[in-house]
Amino acid sequence: MRQEHSYSTEAIILKRSDLGEADRILTLFTPYKGKFHAIAKGIRRPISKKAGHIELLSHCQLHVAVGRNLDIVTQAEGIENFLHVRSDLWHMTCGFYLAELVDRFLEEHTPHHEVYNLLLEALRALDTDAVELQQQRAEGTLAAGQEHGRTQLLLRHFEIYLLSYIGYEPVLRTCAHCYTELQPVENGFTPALGGALCPNCSHLWTQSLSMNALKVLRLLQRTEWARVPRLRLDARLHAELEATMHALLRFHLERDLKSWSFLEMLR
Ligand SMILES: [Zn+2]
Repeated sequence: MRQEHSYSTEAIILKRSDLGEADRILTLFTPYKGKFHAIAKGIRRPISKKAGHIELLSHCQLHVAVGRNLDIVTQAEGIENFLHVRSDLWHMTCGFYLAELVDRFLEEHTPHHEVYNLLLEALRALDTDAVELQQQRAEGTLAAGQEHGRTQLLLRHFEIYLLSYIGYEPVLRTCAHCYTELQPVENGFTPALGGALCPNCSHLWTQSLSMNALKVLRLLQRTEWARVPRLRLDARLHAELEATMHALLRFHLERDLKSWSFLEMLR
């Protein structure tokens, strides 16, 4: 059987760290080989031709040689650079957060085509949002307090879909304990039970879940991002949605994510 010595793949760069004087280890996310680490040699030399194409979050086309331990990136060409995401600290931090989520939740060398597309679409949405925000700022039409509302919803949407695709879909229709249909009242939420709980099961609640928060989470869960309406939610509801999803993510990961504190500072 002929051994494969090299291959081409598209990839999104999830993470990178320096190695030695001029090399980098990249965490790549690819549609057919999933997540894995590869070396980019000489990438930190000023004359490197690959450098510009393999920035964090870049969507690129790579040629990769099979290595003894780690594979080696031999050629890189940019497909999408998400320049507007990079030019704005908030959007960039949101992008890094999505990459961190994917990196933390996915096992190596396991293809996750749906998650790959989800990440790509979310990065595109972030880029579009960054452009719109710049325009609104220039025109002076930006509504007070709504600057980050759309992207905060995008993060929640991504979190719900990511969890669903990897088998942890949040329970938001029926009570996660007694399975009765949830009513439009104040319900509860318990990450360890996988989602929302009805008032009858309030002895099992770890936090309450307002009627509006449940409505928004359900809407996000059943709607592809492009069709999610432009909701104007107040800061309190955004905070509740975030706290609810973070509690669920924290339960599955058994830790906080690094980006959370940055996002909180910038919000
Ligand atoms: Zn119940």
